[in-house]
Amino acid sequence: MNNDLILILNAASFAADKHRRQRRKDADASPYINHPLALADILAREGGVEDATVIAAALLHDTVEDTETSIEEIEDRFGKRVASIVAEVTDDKSLPKEERKRLQVVKSASKSQGAKLVKLADKTANLRDLVATPPADWSAERRAKYFEWAREVVEGLRGCNAALEASFDEAYAKGMNSGPSHHDRRG
Ligand code: NDP
Ligand code: ZN
Repeated sequence: MNNDLILILNAASFAADKHRRQRRKDADASPYINHPLALADILAREGGVEDATVIAAALLHDTVEDTETSIEEIEDRFGKRVASIVAEVTDDKSLPKEERKRLQVVKSASKSQGAKLVKLADKTANLRDLVATPPADWSAERRAKYFEWAREVVEGLRGCNAALEASFDEAYAKGMNSGPSHHDRRG
Protein backbone atom coordinates (compact mmCIF):
# COMPACT_ATOMS: atom_id res chain seq x y z
CA MET A 1 0.00 0.00 0.00
CA ASN A 2 1.29 3.48 -0.58
CA ASN A 3 2.85 5.45 2.25
CA ASP A 4 0.29 8.28 2.19
CA LEU A 5 -2.56 5.86 2.68
CA ILE A 6 -0.74 4.12 5.53
CA LEU A 7 -0.02 7.45 7.25
CA ILE A 8 -3.67 8.51 7.00
CA LEU A 9 -5.07 5.18 8.22
CA ASN A 10 -2.62 5.12 11.13
CA ALA A 11 -3.57 8.67 12.10
CA ALA A 12 -7.31 7.82 11.97
CA SER A 13 -6.81 4.74 14.08
CA PHE A 14 -4.56 6.54 16.63
CA ALA A 15 -7.09 9.40 16.95
CA ALA A 16 -10.02 6.97 17.32
CA ASP A 17 -8.19 5.25 20.17
CA LYS A 18 -7.20 8.50 21.92
CA HIS A 19 -10.72 9.98 21.67
CA ARG A 20 -12.49 6.69 22.46
CA ARG A 21 -14.02 7.90 25.73
CA GLN A 22 -14.89 11.39 24.49
CA ARG A 23 -18.15 12.59 23.05
CA ARG A 24 -19.19 15.69 21.13
CA LYS A 25 -21.48 18.18 22.84
CA ASP A 26 -24.57 17.49 20.67
CA ALA A 27 -27.76 16.10 22.21
CA ASP A 28 -26.90 12.56 21.04
CA ALA A 29 -23.34 12.79 22.45
CA SER A 30 -21.87 11.52 19.18
CA PRO A 31 -18.49 9.78 19.18
CA TYR A 32 -15.76 12.44 19.15
CA ILE A 33 -13.86 10.82 16.27
CA ASN A 34 -16.65 11.90 13.88
CA HIS A 35 -15.28 15.44 14.17
CA PRO A 36 -11.64 14.81 13.08
CA LEU A 37 -13.01 12.58 10.31
CA ALA A 38 -15.24 15.45 9.18
CA LEU A 39 -12.18 17.74 8.92
CA ALA A 40 -10.31 15.19 6.79
CA ASP A 41 -13.33 14.87 4.52
CA ILE A 42 -13.73 18.65 4.15
CA LEU A 43 -10.04 19.07 3.30
CA ALA A 44 -9.86 16.22 0.79
CA ARG A 45 -13.23 16.51 -0.95
CA GLU A 46 -14.13 20.18 -0.66
CA GLY A 47 -10.63 21.68 -0.50
CA GLY A 48 -8.96 19.27 -2.93
CA VAL A 49 -6.08 18.95 -0.46
CA GLU A 50 -3.79 16.10 -1.52
CA ASP A 51 -1.00 16.50 1.03
CA ALA A 52 -1.26 13.43 3.29
CA THR A 53 0.61 15.30 6.03
CA VAL A 54 -2.21 17.84 6.26
CA ILE A 55 -4.92 15.15 6.25
CA ALA A 56 -3.11 13.21 8.99
CA ALA A 57 -2.67 16.40 11.06
CA ALA A 58 -6.41 17.09 10.69
CA LEU A 59 -7.23 13.62 12.00
CA LEU A 60 -4.91 14.26 14.96
CA HIS A 61 -5.74 17.95 15.51
CA ASP A 62 -7.55 17.59 18.86
CA THR A 63 -5.51 14.73 20.38
CA VAL A 64 -2.93 16.89 22.16
CA GLU A 65 -5.43 19.53 23.26
CA ASP A 66 -8.15 17.14 24.45
CA THR A 67 -6.53 13.79 25.34
CA GLU A 68 -3.43 12.48 27.09
CA THR A 69 -1.18 12.83 24.06
CA SER A 70 2.09 14.73 23.74
CA ILE A 71 3.57 16.39 20.66
CA GLU A 72 6.61 14.09 21.11
CA GLU A 73 4.33 11.07 20.79
CA ILE A 74 2.86 12.49 17.56
CA GLU A 75 6.34 13.22 16.21
CA ASP A 76 7.63 9.71 17.01
CA ARG A 77 4.73 8.05 15.22
CA PHE A 78 3.89 10.45 12.43
CA GLY A 79 7.00 12.57 11.88
CA LYS A 80 8.05 16.18 12.31
CA ARG A 81 5.80 17.73 9.65
CA VAL A 82 2.59 16.26 11.06
CA ALA A 83 3.68 17.08 14.62
CA SER A 84 4.46 20.70 13.81
CA ILE A 85 1.01 21.26 12.29
CA VAL A 86 -0.67 19.63 15.29
CA ALA A 87 1.41 21.82 17.63
CA GLU A 88 0.36 24.94 15.70
CA VAL A 89 -3.35 24.15 16.07
CA THR A 90 -3.15 23.20 19.76
CA ASP A 91 -4.29 25.85 22.27
CA ASP A 92 -2.26 26.40 25.43
CA LYS A 93 -4.65 25.02 28.03
CA SER A 94 -2.79 26.68 30.90
CA LEU A 95 -4.28 29.99 29.71
CA PRO A 96 -7.81 31.14 30.57
CA LYS A 97 -10.41 30.35 27.91
CA GLU A 98 -11.03 33.94 26.84
CA GLU A 99 -7.30 34.47 26.35
CA ARG A 100 -7.03 31.28 24.27
CA LYS A 101 -9.87 32.50 22.07
CA ARG A 102 -8.25 35.93 21.69
CA LEU A 103 -4.92 34.34 20.74
CA GLN A 104 -6.56 32.26 18.01
CA VAL A 105 -7.77 35.50 16.40
CA VAL A 106 -4.42 37.27 16.78
CA LYS A 107 -2.25 34.37 15.63
CA SER A 108 -4.20 32.81 12.77
CA ALA A 109 -2.58 34.93 10.04
CA SER A 110 0.96 33.89 11.00
CA LYS A 111 0.34 30.13 10.91
CA SER A 112 1.88 27.83 8.30
CA GLN A 113 -0.15 26.90 5.22
CA GLY A 114 -0.85 23.40 6.60
CA ALA A 115 -2.07 24.74 9.95
CA LYS A 116 -4.27 27.31 8.21
CA LEU A 117 -5.96 24.59 6.16
CA VAL A 118 -6.65 22.49 9.27
CA LYS A 119 -7.99 25.50 11.19
CA LEU A 120 -10.25 26.51 8.34
CA ALA A 121 -11.73 23.00 8.11
CA ASP A 122 -12.11 22.90 11.91
CA LYS A 123 -14.11 26.13 12.02
CA THR A 124 -16.28 25.02 9.08
CA ALA A 125 -17.00 21.66 10.73
CA ASN A 126 -17.90 23.32 14.03
CA LEU A 127 -20.26 25.85 12.40
CA ARG A 128 -21.99 23.01 10.57
CA ASP A 129 -22.32 21.11 13.84
CA LEU A 130 -23.77 24.19 15.54
CA VAL A 131 -26.48 24.32 12.87
CA ALA A 132 -27.19 20.59 12.42
CA THR A 133 -26.37 19.08 15.83
CA PRO A 134 -25.83 21.88 18.36
CA PRO A 135 -25.10 21.39 22.07
CA ALA A 136 -28.53 21.03 23.67
CA ASP A 137 -27.89 23.68 26.31
CA TRP A 138 -26.59 26.46 24.05
CA SER A 139 -28.76 29.54 23.60
CA ALA A 140 -29.12 31.19 20.20
CA GLU A 141 -26.97 34.00 21.58
CA ARG A 142 -24.16 31.67 22.51
CA ARG A 143 -24.24 30.07 19.06
CA ALA A 144 -24.19 33.51 17.46
CA LYS A 145 -21.16 34.53 19.55
CA TYR A 146 -19.33 31.41 18.45
CA PHE A 147 -20.11 32.20 14.80
CA GLU A 148 -18.70 35.72 15.20
CA TRP A 149 -15.53 34.47 16.86
CA ALA A 150 -15.02 31.80 14.20
CA ARG A 151 -15.36 34.45 11.49
CA GLU A 152 -12.72 36.60 13.18
CA VAL A 153 -10.31 33.66 13.33
CA VAL A 154 -10.98 32.83 9.68
CA GLU A 155 -10.19 36.41 8.56
CA GLY A 156 -6.56 35.59 9.37
CA LEU A 157 -6.68 32.33 7.41
CA ARG A 158 -7.88 33.74 4.10
CA GLY A 159 -5.76 33.31 1.00
CA CYS A 160 -4.77 29.69 1.65
CA ASN A 161 -7.52 27.79 -0.24
CA ALA A 162 -10.43 29.47 -2.05
CA ALA A 163 -12.71 26.41 -2.06
CA LEU A 164 -12.31 25.90 1.69
CA GLU A 165 -12.99 29.57 2.32
CA ALA A 166 -16.16 29.29 0.23
CA SER A 167 -17.21 26.27 2.33
CA PHE A 168 -16.68 28.28 5.49
CA ASP A 169 -18.58 31.28 4.13
CA GLU A 170 -21.48 29.04 3.15
CA ALA A 171 -21.62 27.43 6.60
CA TYR A 172 -21.50 30.87 8.18
CA ALA A 173 -24.29 32.21 5.96
CA LYS A 174 -26.44 29.17 6.69
CA GLY A 175 -26.09 29.68 10.42
CA MET A 176 -26.93 33.35 10.13
CA ASN A 177 -30.11 32.55 8.18
CA SER A 178 -31.44 29.75 10.33
CA GLY A 179 -32.68 29.29 13.83
CA PRO A 180 -34.49 31.62 16.20
CA SER A 181 -31.68 34.19 16.35
CA HIS A 182 -32.51 35.25 12.80
CA HIS A 183 -36.19 35.71 13.47
CA ASP A 184 -35.50 37.46 16.76
CA ARG A 185 -33.39 40.11 15.11
CA ARG A 186 -34.94 43.53 14.70
CA GLY A 187 -34.14 46.20 12.13
P1 NDP B 1 -16.80 26.12 23.75
O1 NDP B 1 -15.36 26.29 23.46
O2 NDP B 1 -17.24 25.81 25.12
O3 NDP B 1 -17.43 25.04 22.79
C1 NDP B 1 -17.20 25.09 21.42
C2 NDP B 1 -16.24 23.99 21.05
O4 NDP B 1 -16.81 22.75 21.40
C3 NDP B 1 -16.01 23.93 19.57
O5 NDP B 1 -14.96 24.80 19.21
C4 NDP B 1 -15.68 22.47 19.37
O6 NDP B 1 -14.28 22.35 19.67
C5 NDP B 1 -16.44 21.74 20.47
N1 NDP B 1 -17.70 21.04 20.12
C6 NDP B 1 -18.07 19.83 20.60
N2 NDP B 1 -19.28 19.49 20.17
C7 NDP B 1 -19.71 20.47 19.38
C8 NDP B 1 -20.91 20.67 18.60
N3 NDP B 1 -21.90 19.75 18.58
N4 NDP B 1 -21.04 21.81 17.90
C9 NDP B 1 -20.06 22.73 17.92
N5 NDP B 1 -18.89 22.61 18.62
C10 NDP B 1 -18.72 21.47 19.35
O7 NDP B 1 -17.59 27.42 23.26
P2 NDP B 1 -17.23 28.91 23.46
O8 NDP B 1 -16.55 29.11 24.74
O9 NDP B 1 -16.59 29.36 22.23
O10 NDP B 1 -18.65 29.57 23.55
C11 NDP B 1 -19.16 30.41 22.52
C12 NDP B 1 -19.40 31.79 23.07
O11 NDP B 1 -20.36 31.73 24.09
C13 NDP B 1 -18.16 32.40 23.64
O12 NDP B 1 -17.78 33.48 22.83
C14 NDP B 1 -18.52 32.86 25.06
O13 NDP B 1 -18.35 34.23 25.23
C15 NDP B 1 -19.95 32.52 25.21
N6 NDP B 1 -20.20 31.73 26.39
C16 NDP B 1 -21.46 31.70 26.86
C17 NDP B 1 -21.78 30.95 27.95
C18 NDP B 1 -23.19 30.88 28.32
O14 NDP B 1 -24.02 31.50 27.70
N7 NDP B 1 -23.54 30.09 29.30
C19 NDP B 1 -20.76 30.24 28.73
C20 NDP B 1 -19.46 30.27 28.13
C21 NDP B 1 -19.22 31.01 27.01
P3 NDP B 1 -13.28 21.30 18.93
O15 NDP B 1 -13.19 21.66 17.50
O16 NDP B 1 -11.99 21.54 19.67
O17 NDP B 1 -13.90 20.00 19.15
ZN1 ZN C 1 -11.66 20.52 16.31
